[in-house]
Amino acid sequence: MTTTLETLIDSLRTLLGEANVITGGETLETLSKDYYWYSPALRSQLDDKRADVVARPATVEEVRALLSLCFAAGVAVTPRGAGTGNYGQCVPLHGGVVLDLSRLDRIHSVEGGVVRAEPGARLGSIETVARAAGWELRCYPSTWMKATLGGFWGGGAGGIGGVRWGGIASGDTVVSLTLLTLEAEPRLLRYEGKAAMVPLRTFGTTGVVVELEMRLAPKIDYDQLAFAAADWDLLFAWMDAALRNGSWRKRVGSLFQWPIPSFFAPIKKYMPADRHVGFLIVDRAQTTEIVAAAEAAGLAVVYNRPLADPPKPPFLSDFTYNHTTLWAMKSDPAYTYVQAGFTADYRNQIRKLMETYPGEVLMHLEWGASDPSRVVGPDAVPEAMGVGAIPLIHYRTEERFLEILAFARSLGVYVGSTHTVTLTEVGPEQTAARIALKHEVDPRGLMNPGKMKAFPVNPFESASAG
Ligand SMILES: Cc1cc2nc3c(=O)[nH]c(=O)nc-3n(C[C@H](O)[C@H](O)[C@H](O)COP(=O)(O)OP(=O)(O)OC[C@H]3O[C@@H](n4cnc5c(N)ncnc54)[C@H](O)[C@@H]3O)c2cc1C
Repeated sequence: MTTTLETLIDSLRTLLGEANVITGGETLETLSKDYYWYSPALRSQLDDKRADVVARPATVEEVRALLSLCFAAGVAVTPRGAGTGNYGQCVPLHGGVVLDLSRLDRIHSVEGGVVRAEPGARLGSIETVARAAGWELRCYPSTWMKATLGGFWGGGAGGIGGVRWGGIASGDTVVSLTLLTLEAEPRLLRYEGKAAMVPLRTFGTTGVVVELEMRLAPKIDYDQLAFAAADWDLLFAWMDAALRNGSWRKRVGSLFQWPIPSFFAPIKKYMPADRHVGFLIVDRAQTTEIVAAAEAAGLAVVYNRPLADPPKPPFLSDFTYNHTTLWAMKSDPAYTYVQAGFTADYRNQIRKLMETYPGEVLMHLEWGASDPSRVVGPDAVPEAMGVGAIPLIHYRTEERFLEILAFARSLGVYVGSTHTVTLTEVGPEQTAARIALKHEVDPRGLMNPGKMKAFPVNPFESASAG
């Protein structure tokens, strides 16, 4: 350890207290990692990466003082929420300080349909507080019980609620954000509306967010439903029509090819053998109508339970989005995943993928609003709903994996790379606006270095890259 780092650690102990500065042991190891191990490619790249020190401030003033110390020392700073990201987003590539923001967890207010909170507030806690005031989150990841608001903003995309409101970047969901710059004297900067979207999902490379305002939706009481059928085409067609039906109010629409439902250990007893299964989370006022329609179409309704308010398990969402992958990996670690988007030819594309790689590509679909303003009400149009996939791939070799991706692309399927840590491939493009913002808020390139490759300054590149 260098003298600079030792001096910094002493200063951090004085600032935050011994207990909030971690320099070794299992806690340092755990807080240096996320769920990157989902990806066979990332395991080898990131297994040996860890912080030199984890710091756990509890107030904005402590964060400000910490950033000032790190700037003076020229040490890397990687923000962290709950560490549930899938791409090594909060894994420090060049050591330094992991800034654990989980103690900044105050929910300041829920007023006029807007929540104002600190970044470490868990999404599940926000949902509980919002519901008590007559509101609910517009969208949240399936990791909501653990994941933080700041981490969802910094690394997430969308999830539950997406069938109505799209992802976190859709419409006017993000109202404002306030961040601290990494400078000698860190400044608090507040961005609203479009400007607040520039640093969205930049993996902690563009300042430390210390407060967020997010628009909520009026709360709805929900039921959680699962439908089973032996015939994929029948179930797929019914689910697709249900999701595109603008008069049915839904929070989730997911579809799993058999044997995926057999991986869902806690609810396996409800999943009939050799049946594909679809999940809908729907407005309780419409459950009777939706169940009757499903049964009339020849589907078996195998699960029908309320979503508790305040939120309390069981949650069908624990098996959706990337939780599906987690359950599959628990059953067989050789499973991995990709994220795929389809064109208007989606029925054909999905069928060809399933037929070409039977047993090797298992279809997992999630519907989401591509135009949230037109998925409900009299103006609803079927095209405003999109279907995407997080298919499971039984990983054999890198060559075979790339062959499957190339085949999918040859069908016109968009395949996002989920097997890289940098922004370009998994996140929105590294736009000029983002790079300009980075120059403004992190002029020395100390924030999560190596993740925004297009930013020209990485003081650690020659020292430990690779
Ligand atoms: C089983 C499983 C299921 C998942 N399902 C979904 C899903 O449905 N939808 C989805 O979008 N994602 C999903 N994810 C990914 C992840 O859970 C979410 O993106 C989640 O919102 C991340 O929150 P976190 O608090 O864990 O963030 P972290 O992983 O701690 O951080 C994410 C990124 O944000 C940055 N960051 C964190 N806090 C701040 C801050 N205050 N200021 C600046 N940068 C910050 C970090 O540096 C990092 O780059 C899933 C992951 C797993 C393992």
